Amino acid sequence: MSDARTVLAEWQQRTDAATEGPWEHGDRQHVAGVLPEQFGDGKCAYCDRYGEPTWVGKQLINGKRMLAHAHESAEPWWDHGIYALRGAGSVLVVNDIDEYGYIADPDAEFIAASRTAMPCLLSAVENVLALHRPVHPVFNWQTGLHFEEPCPTCHGKAGVHECGCWGDTDIQFECFECIRPTDEKSRRYVPYPCPTVQAINDALLASEPSGSER
Ligand SMILES: [Zn+2]
Ligand SMILES: [Zn+2]
Ligand SMILES: [Zn+2]
Repeated sequence: MSDARTVLAEWQQRTDAATEGPWEHGDRQHVAGVLPEQFGDGKCAYCDRYGEPTWVGKQLINGKRMLAHAHESAEPWWDHGIYALRGAGSVLVVNDIDEYGYIADPDAEFIAASRTAMPCLLSAVENVLALHRPVHPVFNWQTGLHFEEPCPTCHGKAGVHECGCWGDTDIQFECFECIRPTDEKSRRYVPYPCPTVQAINDALLASEPSGSER
């Protein structure tokens, strides 16, 4: 009987074995040798067209180790295949033609497993977010204290809204799960996003890839 930690460890292993991300559909990087006699001082074939290189260093170009540039464009040069961007040039992860060799086994296994792993991870996170969701207290002198979900139209923002809500200030939401009383009396105040949601946000919204060579 495996638990969440075991499942996560297995997916972690598969992820670590695959080529490091981020991956992109299509190649945005061109690498060319610096050839002063042909293109001018410290310039490669792409300098005039694409400006500053994103990387400068020694690279094997047509069998000769020489000074080279990597130039990166906003749009892919060609859109077949999947690439991982590196300073010194793209790493091919998946090609959809077999001319340049086949996809590496760890990458293929990672992609294949993702179709199953991704939905599982999504529902794991969604389950947590469904519990740790924003609510706000409403007091009714007949029924007492209860908690309401945010209005789907105005989301509790200050102002007078067509949905019928009005308020001078934004509603301060609390976390449905975290404020759940641990005994009959206690009512805790935990503003939303709570530490659990914040931890999920931090993980999902982290834009900088870790251990990147760039
Ligand atoms: Zn250049
Ligand atoms: Zn509203
Ligand atoms: Zn919470």
